[in-house]
Amino acid sequence: MPEAPKEIVPYDHEKKVMEEYNMYEKNKKTLEFIEEVTENADQVQKRVLTEILTRNANVEYLHRHGLNGATDRDTFKKLIPVIKYEDIQSDITRIANGDTSPILSSHPISEFLTSSGTSGGERKLMPTIEEELDRRCMLYSLLMPVMSQFVPGLDKGKGMYFLFIKSESKTPGGLVARPVLTSYYKSKHFKNRPFDSYTNYTSPNESILCSDSYQSMYSQMLCGLCQNNEVLRVGAVFASGFIRAIKFLEKNWALLAQDIRVGSLNPVITDPEVRAAVMRILKPDPQLADFIEAECSKDMWQGIITRIWPNTKYIDVIVTGTMAQYIPTLDYYSNGLPLVCTMYASSECYFGVNLNPLCKPSEVSYTLIPSMGYFEFLPVQRNVNGVTNSISMPKSLTEKEQQDLVELTDVKLGHEYELVITTYAGLYRYRVGDVLRVAGFKNKAPQFNFVCRKNVVLSIDSDKTDEVELQNAVKNAVSHLQPFGGTLLEYTSYADTSVIPGHYVLFWELSLNRSTSVPPSVFEDCCLTIEESLNSVYRQGRVSDKSIGPLEIKVVENGTFDKLMDYAISLGASINQYKTPRCVKFAPIVELLNSRVVSTYLSPKCPKWAPGHKQWCNANEER
Ligand code: AMP
Repeated sequence: MPEAPKEIVPYDHEKKVMEEYNMYEKNKKTLEFIEEVTENADQVQKRVLTEILTRNANVEYLHRHGLNGATDRDTFKKLIPVIKYEDIQSDITRIANGDTSPILSSHPISEFLTSSGTSGGERKLMPTIEEELDRRCMLYSLLMPVMSQFVPGLDKGKGMYFLFIKSESKTPGGLVARPVLTSYYKSKHFKNRPFDSYTNYTSPNESILCSDSYQSMYSQMLCGLCQNNEVLRVGAVFASGFIRAIKFLEKNWALLAQDIRVGSLNPVITDPEVRAAVMRILKPDPQLADFIEAECSKDMWQGIITRIWPNTKYIDVIVTGTMAQYIPTLDYYSNGLPLVCTMYASSECYFGVNLNPLCKPSEVSYTLIPSMGYFEFLPVQRNVNGVTNSISMPKSLTEKEQQDLVELTDVKLGHEYELVITTYAGLYRYRVGDVLRVAGFKNKAPQFNFVCRKNVVLSIDSDKTDEVELQNAVKNAVSHLQPFGGTLLEYTSYADTSVIPGHYVLFWELSLNRSTSVPPSVFEDCCLTIEESLNSVYRQGRVSDKSIGPLEIKVVENGTFDKLMDYAISLGASINQYKTPRCVKFAPIVELLNSRVVSTYLSPKCPKWAPGHKQWCNANEER
């Protein structure tokens, strides 16, 4: 007979033990799943492709290319072209206009996910189907079991994540079009997630789902401050978003501390659901208010994150790709807390996770999870300088090149590839536009460093501006100089993130008519024209998200670009091949340019932006 317990174990204790045991079991299963799919990566890929092609055997797109129900890799690779967005734009437009026949997918298209990658200045529309949400949730569910191998005890507190929704619109055919995260936060998968100590956030759902970005940020920050000692990890999706939150605190701490002091919410927060949700958390706490005021009123904000949220173990934000520019700022605010990049995903498909989340940002690699989609790899050609060719998408591929795309398990260590995907939602051999480098393997599955997004030269937040767009925008702007006899001799650009929000800077070297001077207002018009000419993601960042500051033109002394060339040549560039870079990042070059600035001009107002595609505006207004 079992011995009677010496002391009565309280019910709560038993419950806790049970919960911990369940979590341990769940984590174990998740890690086993990762082992299994990475060990059998090729078989899983084969199965995924067969599944996609079997269920979509009758879709118009595959018929058009003569697949005739074949589901094997060889036939697929022989018949189905490797494509870019523009190649399926007419199919997408038909779906957007209300054609519900199975064009790309046998499953009904449930909505469009609007990518931050653009085509013709507008967000690309990625068709998705209902079940993709489950697949995305599956990828999310891998993150914490992986993380807790490295940082134990994360279930004992909360995550302070700044999460936001963005505006959505309707296509003429009535499908919703919105960013993938907005779709996820608004889904029942997120809103009704069962209580789980890993998805226990300081922000109430009502704050995350509030469409007014100020009210959303204010209430999320307030709730994060109220629960400061419970917070074990902090983050946002991208580094830029998290820094924006810290800047918000810098501006608004006095108001926030006042709310905490008296236990009532500032009347500027008018959304009734947000108010009710915050009032369930907010209690008068003069001591905490004093503490916040004391910390925030210090001149130095170095280490502010660890000072206000003292139990924080890491910052969960993406700092790979263009977001790497924010690493020094995050290090400053956090006194060097680990920066953790957990996953790699896109509107088209969620790809993979970082299995070694505490590694240095420069070493982050993502293991593609083979069950998420069918992945192929296009070897990337580098030019002689070892710089990934950045001007416009390369030509269409030859038949041989299309057939020679590399399988997931055949990529070579150290080699670079462009990612090509086939998804359950109906993209077939679609070029995502990301360049990845093989950094290692988890079992048979490769792990990739994110190298860059093809062509992107400027980015502050989720905006992605390429050289061609920049060139067109500059061309439109310089027409303002013509009446004054001014011409643009050379230009380059720079994403300045030294002040938040960051902004685009253009360095211009001009030839000016000595007898007529150009009024400052003309240069300001140039700034605005550039902004008006940039894509809708940039303009949304300026207008709605306020994540991008006014564009700046810095006119430099004559001869500056010759100096730039001299400098590049002194660093080893070939004089014959030297071309003015259309974007600069290297600090000494930025310094050189800045040291020769003669005048600066800022865009005087925001460019125009409205949700949805240009061509739908009328349709949406009618609704
Ligand atoms: P979107 O389609 O707007 O969701 O943007 C997806 C793109 O964001 C990807 O194709 C990448 O270029 C970029 N991205 C997503 N996750 C990461 C990451 N972990 N590191 C670097 N870039 C990323």
